[in-house]
Amino acid sequence: MKAAVLNSAPGQLHIENVDIGEPGPREVLVKTAAAGLCHSDLHFMEATYPHPLPTLLGHESAGVVEAVGSMVSYVKPGDHVITCLSAFCGYCEQCLSGHMSLCENKHTHLVRGAEESPRLSRNGEVIHQFMHLSSFAEHMLIHEHALVKIREDMPLDKAALIGCAVTTGLGAVFRTAKVEPGSTVAVIGCGGIGLSAIQGARIAGANKIIAVDMVGAKLELAQELGATHIVNPSDGDPVKQVKEISEGGVHYSFEAVGLKVTAEQSFKMLRSGGQATVIGLIPVGTMIEIHGADLIMERTLTGSNMGSNQFRTDMPRIVDMYLDGRLNLDAMVAKTITLEEINEGFEELKTGTETRSVIIF
Ligand SMILES: [Zn+2]
Ligand SMILES: [Zn+2]
Repeated sequence: MKAAVLNSAPGQLHIENVDIGEPGPREVLVKTAAAGLCHSDLHFMEATYPHPLPTLLGHESAGVVEAVGSMVSYVKPGDHVITCLSAFCGYCEQCLSGHMSLCENKHTHLVRGAEESPRLSRNGEVIHQFMHLSSFAEHMLIHEHALVKIREDMPLDKAALIGCAVTTGLGAVFRTAKVEPGSTVAVIGCGGIGLSAIQGARIAGANKIIAVDMVGAKLELAQELGATHIVNPSDGDPVKQVKEISEGGVHYSFEAVGLKVTAEQSFKMLRSGGQATVIGLIPVGTMIEIHGADLIMERTLTGSNMGSNQFRTDMPRIVDMYLDGRLNLDAMVAKTITLEEINEGFEELKTGTETRSVIIF
């Protein structure tokens, strides 16, 4: 099959022919319909996060089941599915207490052992599967606990976005922070995840939703999707601006950039008792500094992993929110591209003017 392989990091992706195995007992072969380009993939291409190489990136996808292993009863060929990197074992303490995104066995029990033939290879050489998925390819061979079945009237290019950005942003609001109706929310960074958090805050019933970004076009889109106020840090200290709009600080802030400075700003813009949730991937080794005295008034700084999702229940609900008109995914796709255009797509993501490109297979 045709796939985009990362052979060295930092580096670009190469379109190559990759061999994919037959489904094992608990595995599903999915024909990829669409795959989004996410900032997290970029982190691995730029080597700010390490990964064994060669690898096949991509983790935001939807498709159609083509074949299933002997023990799989949850899906059958022809079913429409969204994939999720939060693959879960279903029996560890985290899974059984409803925190499947924190599954303790995801790196050991949901992958093939070293003695088995690899899921992905190239002339006998192992291609390391990325986040249980590897979506930048015509097919995916994945564990049955890395996908969810969805309604067939859901367009698969929009469904792909739910596979990462949308679930992460909405989940950070609904599940990690549990935003209350009437509260005041600030979202720093208006890419795919930030815009999803803004829509989540709107659906959750927040009164004031303050979008923070350096790019004017992204702030305009944020307003279209639910932001009631916008803040551009080039007009002055964003913390001061947010505190003015929120009359003393927000109840909830969300950081969707992944930088030390924005993570610290997200905490500084809280009112007493407020909670800052860092969603962005902060580079390994970076320290976040806060004033200890700010903790006295019960401010919280926390992280959110893939929106603390329970994706088997969350994603079908999010599909319903799109189909009943509450969630706007159409405006979040800047353009659709082919697999061959993937490096240009990442180049545009890096410059930060576009929202999201989606590969259509
Ligand atoms: Zn992602
Ligand atoms: Zn588990």
